[in-house]
Amino acid sequence: MAAVAAPDAFRLGFVGGGNMAESIARGVAKSGVLPPSSIRTTHRRTERRLVFQSFGVKILETNAQVVDDSDIIILSVKPQIVKKVLLELKPFFSEEKVLVSIAAGIKLKDLQEWSGQRRVIRVMPNTPAAVGLAASVMCVGEMATKKDEERVTSLFNAIGKIWTADEKYFDAVTSLSGSGPAYIYIAIEALADGGVAAGLPRDLALGLASQTVLGAAAMVNDTGRHPGQLKDAVTSPAGTTIAGIQELERGSFRGTLMNAVVAAAKRCQELS
Ligand code: NAD
Repeated sequence: MAAVAAPDAFRLGFVGGGNMAESIARGVAKSGVLPPSSIRTTHRRTERRLVFQSFGVKILETNAQVVDDSDIIILSVKPQIVKKVLLELKPFFSEEKVLVSIAAGIKLKDLQEWSGQRRVIRVMPNTPAAVGLAASVMCVGEMATKKDEERVTSLFNAIGKIWTADEKYFDAVTSLSGSGPAYIYIAIEALADGGVAAGLPRDLALGLASQTVLGAAAMVNDTGRHPGQLKDAVTSPAGTTIAGIQELERGSFRGTLMNAVVAAAKRCQELS
C-alpha cells in the first residue's frame, strides 16, 4: 500500500481576525490542511475570539504574539491600517517567517519595507471564500521559497482555487475576480426579475437563476470546454435560446461586461 504523505506541519497566524480571516481559517481547518490547533489569531472583541475558539483556533493576546508564534502570518486587516500594523510588528518578524498579505492594493515592495520581512507573498482572494469557492491569485516576492509558495497554495486551495501571476496583473485581477461576484449578483437578480416578468413566482425564479449560474460555471470548469462551444450546444436553430441571445447582443451584454472589468481596473489603478 502506498504511504500517505503526512500533512505539512506549520503554524499559521492571522493578524486581523475579520471575515476573510475566518473564511480562510475555517476552510483550512475543515480541509485538514492544518489542524485548528496550528492556527492562531487575536481580537479585541470577545465575540470574535469566541467565533475562532468555537472551531479550535488558538487565541493569543496580541498581534506580536501571533507573529512570534507562527511560521506563516496572514495579514488580514483593512488596507488603510496595514502600514501602521506592520511598522508596529517589525521587531517581531524574523528571517524564517513568511508574511502573506491579502490587503487589497498594497504592493509587495511596501509590505517588505514596512515589515522588514523578506519572504513576502501577496494574495488577492474574493468573498466566495466564505463558501469555499474563492478565486484567489498570488504573487510571490523574490525572497520567498518554493516551499513558501506551496504552503500558501495549500492554504488558499482550502477555500477555493488559486493561481499565480505577476504583480503587474493585480489591478486587472481585482477588477475581474475581486469585483466579479457583484456583477454576477446583479445578473442573478436580473435573471430572476425576468423569470417573474415571464410569470414565475419570485422564490422559484431566484432559485432557478442562481442554480443556473452555478451550473453554467461548473460546466465551464469541469468539462474544460470553451464557453462558446457550450453555448452553441444549447442553441438550436430558430429555438428559444437563440432568441434570448439575440436580445442579449442587442443590449451589448458582452461589451457591457468587458467595459465593467476595464472600468474597475482603471479605478483600481487610480486608487493605488
Ligand atoms: P474585516 O473588517 O472583516 O476584518 C478586519 C479585521 O481586522 C476586523 O475584525 C478588525 O477588528 C481587525 N482589526 C482592526 N484593527 C486591527 C489591528 N490593529 N490589529 C489586528 N486586527 C485589527 O475585513 P475583511 O473583509 O476580512 O478584509 C480583510 C482584508 O482582506 C482587507 O485588507 C481586504 O482588502 C482584504 N480582502 C478582502 C476581500 C473580501 O472579499 N472581503 C477580498 C480580497 C481581499
